[in-house]
Amino acid sequence: MQSTPKSMRLHIGLFGRRNAGKSSLLNAITRQQVSIVSDFAGTTTDPVEKPMELLPLGPVLFIDTAGIDDMGALGELRIKKTRQVFDRTDLGVLVAEAGTWGAFEEEILRALSERNAPAIVVFNKTDVARPPDAVIEMLNTQKVRWVQTVASEGRGIQEFRQALLDAAPEDFVNNPAILGDLVGPGEMAVLVVPIDKEAPKGRLILPQVQSIRDLLDSDAFCMVVKERELRCALDRLKTPPKLVVTDSQAFLKVAADVPDDIPLTSFSILFARFRGDLTTQVIGTMAIDRLRAGDRILIAESCSHHPISDDIGRVKIPRWLTQYVGGKLHFDHVQGHDFPENLQEYKLVIHCGACMTNRRAMLSRILHCKQAGVPVSNYGLTIAYSLGIFERALQPFPAALEAYHAEKTRLAGRPGGMPPESNSGASDYVCIRS
Ligand code: SF4
Repeated sequence: MQSTPKSMRLHIGLFGRRNAGKSSLLNAITRQQVSIVSDFAGTTTDPVEKPMELLPLGPVLFIDTAGIDDMGALGELRIKKTRQVFDRTDLGVLVAEAGTWGAFEEEILRALSERNAPAIVVFNKTDVARPPDAVIEMLNTQKVRWVQTVASEGRGIQEFRQALLDAAPEDFVNNPAILGDLVGPGEMAVLVVPIDKEAPKGRLILPQVQSIRDLLDSDAFCMVVKERELRCALDRLKTPPKLVVTDSQAFLKVAADVPDDIPLTSFSILFARFRGDLTTQVIGTMAIDRLRAGDRILIAESCSHHPISDDIGRVKIPRWLTQYVGGKLHFDHVQGHDFPENLQEYKLVIHCGACMTNRRAMLSRILHCKQAGVPVSNYGLTIAYSLGIFERALQPFPAALEAYHAEKTRLAGRPGGMPPESNSGASDYVCIRS
């Protein structure tokens, strides 16, 4: 699997005294044993780098200032290598023992502030001490985010994740690629856009327009066709397209018309990656097989558009899922900025493509679902799963596909195994606008 280049990763500088619990914090957030701090005091002043996939942010690079500690710290902080860490830090994390605060910590915050790098203060080991009130007041005044953790027990880690997400620079969170990274300069994408009574008059919808613009920005070619003309359009091409993207409502017909060796996905799935966290939502989608009659499902849309008569969120998805499960399900709907706090009451959250919101807002919703232990899917992913073309629709996204296979294997190994993927209800399924 292709690894994200270092330059594309969010650089998270990790600072703190040696016994503050930096390694425990990393172990807790990655759920791996990551030992980045030298066992021997003063063995190196070289920063230690650790690239990771950190959900929900994506590819990050932790840089630990190993060997820099409170012994002569202020002097050490001025050495060249440490200054370089500050210089390439996009986001600084200062780990402090809850009862310990002094010039060392102040100096780190000042160095980050000078470089306009956002900072998060993690007060660790709060089971044995409280952070000083005066320090909390100072941080609040300076609008520095802070969280309390007991990293060795995993406490406060979700709050730390949220703080990372909240503090991450805007241009990192709002990753600009919709499909420009999938279709290179000089390559062709075919976009399938049904024009039926549900299509708005005289215009294309936002995910379609944004996808076309993204392709143009990438110096790629773009052909836009209705589903009826797709077969004919493909036949006329001398070279097969690099990718076909369809409105999810036409998934079945388009899958039948596009040869298997041409990658295919939907606008909605592209937006699960662009606005959300594709891997998490892929795993969340697999919860469809665990739904039972009587379960509650939340359908969430990021804008407050007026529902049409055969609305996808209100009519089609509920009808299809009810048929799939073979019993009555309870659906709740939210629109716009509303997102409920009682998420733990739901067995699944199905979210729209979130084209009208920013990624930070969508990632926060995904985090809230995770905190509540509720799987979260997306309209396009739900549709592809139901139609039995989930793997094909994920083909352009190797990391997500790999995560799907790993989860399938994991579930198959559990007592009782995993119910087979089903496409029941597929013939009745007519779907969405993105
Ligand atoms: S994808 Fe979501 S935010 Fe975009 S138009 Fe549809 S309901 Fe609104």
